[in-house]
Amino acid sequence: MWIEQRETGLARAGGVALPRNLLLQSLPFEELERLSPLLHKVPLISRRVLQHAGLPIEHVVFIEEGLVSVLAKVDESSAVEVGLIGRDGAVGAIVALGADRAAFSHFVQIGGSALRVGVDDLARVLPEMPHLREALHLSLHRALTQSAQVAACSLKHSFEQRLACWLLTAHDRCDMTHLPITQDLLARSLGVRRPTVSEAFKQLAQRGVFAKARGRIRILDRAGLERIACRCYRVMCRQGDAVKQSKLGGKTLIALSLIFALSEIELAVQ
Ligand SMILES: [Zn+2]
Repeated sequence: MWIEQRETGLARAGGVALPRNLLLQSLPFEELERLSPLLHKVPLISRRVLQHAGLPIEHVVFIEEGLVSVLAKVDESSAVEVGLIGRDGAVGAIVALGADRAAFSHFVQIGGSALRVGVDDLARVLPEMPHLREALHLSLHRALTQSAQVAACSLKHSFEQRLACWLLTAHDRCDMTHLPITQDLLARSLGVRRPTVSEAFKQLAQRGVFAKARGRIRILDRAGLERIACRCYRVMCRQGDAVKQSKLGGKTLIALSLIFALSEIELAVQ
């Protein structure tokens, strides 16, 4: 039996309970039904660290609502964002490749909710769930290509373009009309000073692409924001589509991702 809607808040479609997470949605009914008793709904608390770098991974967390920043430490007191995970992904997916510790910290940028499964429970059922394994591999492939593109973007494009790209990506991945984002947090995540974010916000707001009120951003003109964003946003969208359509095995995808990542960074520094 799938988890009761009153316990999990899952959406129902055609009489069948469906999670909001897109990886879980992609699973055939049999795998979803097998996994459901192992999934537990948990709140995502804004500004909390969901997974610390270097520590054992205890859960795989499928995001249902909200946004998680993947942070790479650059010195003792600061870290910069190298990826975003929303409804399209899962924190801790790397366990599907046999890793037991996180390479990066995962910080809740926008609060919401998630479904999580213990890694021991997952290890027990994963060998019988080829579609779930493939979905986790594909999410890792997407994360790799995204972090390569973010690295290239930060070397070559203006902050205004990067910010437009970030807002579009955040909007896509958390599927919220109003994004509760503070400039302070954004400045720390993107590795710039607060005045740089304030100035870019002012410029974008003047063009009417979004409105800001009470700590929330409402995107008014997505097409306008896409015109301001650098090509990195479209590249990341295309990469995501290519991953979805790919029939390659997970390990081949990861190898291709690494090659792609290196070539992108090389191009950016030339
Ligand atoms: Zn860019």
